[in-house]
Amino acid sequence: MSRIHALNMSESAWKEWCVASGTKAFLGTQIIEWMTRKNCMDPMQFSNVSQALRSKLNEDFDWNLPGIDTVLESGDASEKILLKTHDNLFTECVLMPSENRVTLCVSSQVGCRMACTFCQTGKMGLTRDLSRGEILAQIIIANRRLLEKGDDRRVTNIVFMGMGEPLDNFDEVVAACSVMLDERFFGLSKHRVTVSTSGLVPAIEELGKLVPVSLAISLHSADEVQRSGMMPINRKHSLAELKEVLLRYPVQTRHGITFEYVMINGVNDSIPHAKKLVKFLHGLKAKVNLIPMNPHPGTDMVATDPERMREFQKYLTDRSIPAPVRYSRGQDVSAACGQLASKRREELNHAPRTVALARRKEWLAQKV
Ligand code: SAH
Ligand code: SF4
Repeated sequence: MSRIHALNMSESAWKEWCVASGTKAFLGTQIIEWMTRKNCMDPMQFSNVSQALRSKLNEDFDWNLPGIDTVLESGDASEKILLKTHDNLFTECVLMPSENRVTLCVSSQVGCRMACTFCQTGKMGLTRDLSRGEILAQIIIANRRLLEKGDDRRVTNIVFMGMGEPLDNFDEVVAACSVMLDERFFGLSKHRVTVSTSGLVPAIEELGKLVPVSLAISLHSADEVQRSGMMPINRKHSLAELKEVLLRYPVQTRHGITFEYVMINGVNDSIPHAKKLVKFLHGLKAKVNLIPMNPHPGTDMVATDPERMREFQKYLTDRSIPAPVRYSRGQDVSAACGQLASKRREELNHAPRTVALARRKEWLAQKV
């Protein structure tokens, strides 16, 4: 029988295990502290645990982190870490250090079943959910990377904007968020953990009740018909339904709810589109991130040109809606949603030599 992963154990499950193993319940909390605060996944190093119990921990649980398949360092100091799960699947996270924060973009699923037309992960379909442990492992791996690079900081901000739809993996994401926010464990501020969703309305409502995280909505169009064409989820939960739940959402940040709006040339980037967006946002405390479409193989959609983007932006800011343009960091290393893992999946279907050549090219491209 396969062993349960140590990061998949809740605090209460650890406490029960400790009591059943003849020791004090509070040790359960300390075991989670070792993993989350001290980055330590080797129970033989748990110095406050008896030798006998260390061995039992070692034998009873799985302590392996997902393997690092590839790290692609970008010219802008961000790096994309491609991870290989225990069952040989690829997932990814992106580490983005900047002067005053260290942001980690995490994945919640391998693939995604939401099938948004502009998204590369959407093309893959869903392979499986990540467990809470596999979500948390991304933070431990990122914190270790920071240490290796001589950066004595830790991850300060988390955004669920990697592969997958976090609210389609609700229980695991909520459990992972609780450990992120718990001051005894990762201790991240609630302003600094952001769950991004394509709009699973009932789950948004539930999330607001369970964990005080910040919310980002991938909107991309404020026109019902157009949004249903771009994002199939809109056929199930309309913009009208989405707005209703957002009006009730307990906002955690000064700027309220973040809306992501991918700017696609000639698709959703005209002034009439901006007008509809302003109308949709009426009554909500909102910030809109304008994200130039990241092109990828298999789509002819491209980013709106900068001039048109500025006009769209001005329309919003003139109406007191903050609308910064956000370029995905790490574009030179396919850091946009799902791009690297899909690329790696394609590689696996090629002959080894082609893969080696492609990787060498990629490596050379990073050097220039
Ligand atoms: N599934 C969640 C979170 C992951 S996607 C969601 O959709 O919100 C993270 C962000 O990347 C989303 O806003 C998504 O719309 C955006 N995105 C997807 N494909 C993109 C592309 N080709 N270019 C730019 N942003 C993209
Ligand atoms: Fe899934 Fe988000 Fe991509 Fe849509 S944009 S397919 S919800 S990952």
